[in-house]
Amino acid sequence: NITAAKQIEMQLTELSQTDELTKIYNRRYLMQRLRQLVKKTDEKYAVLALFDIDFFKPINDTHGHDAGDDVLVKFAQFLRDNIRTSDVVARTGGEEFVVLMFDTKIDQALPILQNLMHGIRQLPLYINGNQLRLTTTIGVTEVLPSDHDTNAILVRADRALYQGKNDGRDQLVVADH
Ligand code: GH3
Ligand code: MG
Ligand code: MG
Repeated sequence: NITAAKQIEMQLTELSQTDELTKIYNRRYLMQRLRQLVKKTDEKYAVLALFDIDFFKPINDTHGHDAGDDVLVKFAQFLRDNIRTSDVVARTGGEEFVVLMFDTKIDQALPILQNLMHGIRQLPLYINGNQLRLTTTIGVTEVLPSDHDTNAILVRADRALYQGKNDGRDQLVVADH
């Protein structure tokens, strides 16, 4: 039965692209989309933002791993619900997420990312009736027509993120090109 086989194939594809905990895309899918993007020979502009939750470990330590998991799920849902459906949001590591905005220049992306940062501070996360206040540091880099190396893009975003962490967290840093 071809339809059944096709259905199973589609389910397997979806499974291989999905982060098990948060149900958003995983690193594998992000890398696939990034590779497609840098292969494009025509004009390509995109913005990649790497989010890392600030002081996440103490949340686990204080409230337990399940509470930490719940925060990750809500964080992921918030990002997914607040970006365009044509953009990609993926969980790339423990408490690290990437938003990839296609056909976007940095000036357009920054207000959107600032809004996301603001929204994250307001997320309604409650543990035993107490609101948990979450902040994030974001490393941002432009993807330019001259970009051909996916790793180089991620390294730029990661360096910017690292700088933001060192400068006190809860901020957005744009990478130098
Ligand atoms: P920083 O502000 O420097 O980012 O500090 P941090 O505490 O957020 O960063 P650190 O890298 O020290 O800790 C990340 C923590 O994320 C450690 C790990 O236990 C936790 N973590 C990773 N994956 C998961 C997960 O799937 N579930 C839960 N609950 N915790 C996770
Ligand atoms: Mg981290
Ligand atoms: Mg962190």
